[in-house]
Amino acid sequence: MKVSLVLLAGGNSERFNENKLLYSINGSTLLERALGVVDFYPFYEVILVCRGQDLEEFTKIVRHVGASCIIVEGGETRGESAYNGVKSASGDYVLIHDCARAFVEKPIVDRIISQLKGVVGVVPVIAETDSIVRSDGKYLDRSAVKRVQTPQGFSRVELLRLFETHGFNYTDEGSLWATENNVILVDGDSNNIKVTYKEDVCSHIKGMRIGNGYDFHPLVEDRELILGGVALPFHKGLLGHSDGDAPLHALCDALLNALALGDIGKFFPDTDMRYKGISSMVLLREVKSMLDERDVHVFNVSMTILAEKPKLAGYIDRMKKNVADILDIPLSMIGIGATTTEGMGLIGREEGIACYASVVLTEDF
Ligand code: MG
Repeated sequence: MKVSLVLLAGGNSERFNENKLLYSINGSTLLERALGVVDFYPFYEVILVCRGQDLEEFTKIVRHVGASCIIVEGGETRGESAYNGVKSASGDYVLIHDCARAFVEKPIVDRIISQLKGVVGVVPVIAETDSIVRSDGKYLDRSAVKRVQTPQGFSRVELLRLFETHGFNYTDEGSLWATENNVILVDGDSNNIKVTYKEDVCSHIKGMRIGNGYDFHPLVEDRELILGGVALPFHKGLLGHSDGDAPLHALCDALLNALALGDIGKFFPDTDMRYKGISSMVLLREVKSMLDERDVHVFNVSMTILAEKPKLAGYIDRMKKNVADILDIPLSMIGIGATTTEGMGLIGREEGIACYASVVLTEDF
């Protein structure tokens, strides 16, 4: 049995105010997440339908994910886009999935595939939990209605015939199929939401954790000054067992602290010769791998460096880039500020440099 997968990614995201499939949640765009469905079955072929203006960007994402897809241009309506996709397919059956349902999981695909025998149309449904009223004020029995999701599975040739007979004015292919045939209903999944509004995305974040960290190192002669992974020209540097990069140490501490794992001294003790003179970028990478092991993502980072001298403004962008590269988050999610203490105290007397760091971490469902 050959099953083709048609992924619909040709919408205009009108109610989202930006291209929702390029919207990133916990480090992955909705499109990347939706492409996960490719691995749920040994599909005969995968066809991604998108708008002409998204071809280039979506092709890059498809390559990045490593999915092998035929990419075709959509039409004016959802129905036309689906038709273009189905027309390009050649399997016995087609599974049509709306990429806005980016959180789809394998069991739903298994349930649909298991029903594909003979000439058949299969749609997943979930129970309606709200009361349902008609626009004339008459209530419906909500146990008699279901909410329809995707993916939906169909015999390809029959579905093509229905498109060509009835046109494209349907909200999903199940309703087109139902014009002439019965649809088989299987259980959907309440987590398989269709992202329509920005707030739909928030419902997918299980938890948030906040973390803060602080570090302070003395400034001494004959040391290179390293802040945020950037070497600054200055006549003094920060003393430490590692490279003394106080901002990255504060950041490591904030990340570890958010996970309640302890602090940097526990994982990278200054009695361990492996860490002597080590770049703190290496330490930050190790902390990032601890987050990855726990399936936790960095949402944003906020840091304030306290230094009387040197002036840091010209180096902040490079520090942000270092942090963004290691934590794999956009530059727009990293704030790094710098301040002096107006000549007061240890920092004001240029005896040391300190840094505060705060982070917000998110966990998926
Ligand atoms: Mg330190």
